[in-house]
Amino acid sequence: MKAVRLESIGSLVMRSIEKPVARSGELLVRVAAAGICGSDRHMFKGEYPTAIPVTMGHEFCGIVEEVGENVTRFTGGELVTVDPNISCGICPGCAQGRPNLCESLTAIGVTRDGGFAEYAAVPHQQAFILPADLDPVHGAFCEPLACCIHAIDKAQIRPGDGVAILGGGVIGLLMVQLARLAGASRVILITRQQSRRQVALRLGATHAFDPSSSDPVASVREVTKGGADVVIECAGVAETLQSGLRMARRGGTFVLFGVTPAGVEVPVLPFDLLVNEVDIRPAYLNPFTHSRAAAMVASKTLELDALVTKTIGLEQIADVVGSAPLSGEIKVIVQP
Ligand code: NAP
Repeated sequence: MKAVRLESIGSLVMRSIEKPVARSGELLVRVAAAGICGSDRHMFKGEYPTAIPVTMGHEFCGIVEEVGENVTRFTGGELVTVDPNISCGICPGCAQGRPNLCESLTAIGVTRDGGFAEYAAVPHQQAFILPADLDPVHGAFCEPLACCIHAIDKAQIRPGDGVAILGGGVIGLLMVQLARLAGASRVILITRQQSRRQVALRLGATHAFDPSSSDPVASVREVTKGGADVVIECAGVAETLQSGLRMARRGGTFVLFGVTPAGVEVPVLPFDLLVNEVDIRPAYLNPFTHSRAAAMVASKTLELDALVTKTIGLEQIADVVGSAPLSGEIKVIVQP
């Protein structure tokens, strides 16, 4: 079968490799759609630890083609979405019910072969059934959506709240929709590209600001009459961390979601955070949220087609992952 393999840092190559088999406890999934994620670009550049060599692709769905021994939940033929994050179940993080903090976390498409291939073998516990008639492209959104749902759980948005979201990539645009569904009355997206601000306004944002043309902190404070109840940082850059913390109202919540490169220090004003009791809540990965993401995608509540800007085959992955995102790009989907 064909698979796109990270063979060394900066070397992603399509190879013909042996088709995997479903071993005991596993499913063999014929990949129908896979999303390219910003983390794939980080892995390609060596900025995020991976196994090498490895078939990349951690956001995917497909059809169960083979069922291994000791699997009773599947018979074959089901459309499934795969939660890539595999926790050990016994370390202190897992014992506290926080599998995203597992000491031995492994991930499909990161530390074991993933979905940028015709087939992937996955532990059956990681698979969640989707409706057979669902567009697989929508199924590929379950993984990023599951992470966003964890962040929205942490945000505890109340009906009528004002929510500011920084960064209008696929994550920010999913958060816009989730914040609206959670009952926010004002949803403000801060992002530089005009095309993304327009998409956000179509998807339910009430306001969209360009941080390079006006002061986004002043704009958010004006719209929310004193500061956002909830701020969700989805860009992972120093500037949005700093401005986002200043957008929260006194007693407001700041959800840290964007991945800032390891080792980067960001100066903040602890005195202001203290006297305003800004509640900083990091949200990492998808603890117990993948099945809810699958249910949400199945319910067709979200507008996902507007987020797909390109569909490619396996042979084009290396070019896309090896280059910076194009202007206007939101989500690139691979259909092997
Ligand atoms: P993305 O496509 O890179 O989107 C982030 C966007 O932020 C950029 O495209 C950019 O859009 C915007 N941005 C950059 N600098 C900005 C600035 N100064 N002010 C306002 N906006 C700015 O990434 P994504 O896939 O949507 O993911 C968003 C973040 O979430 C990433 O850091 C990703 O690694 C992280 N993430 C975290 C988790 C988790 O579990 N915590 C899970 C998945 C992803 P413009 O060019 O329009 O400004």
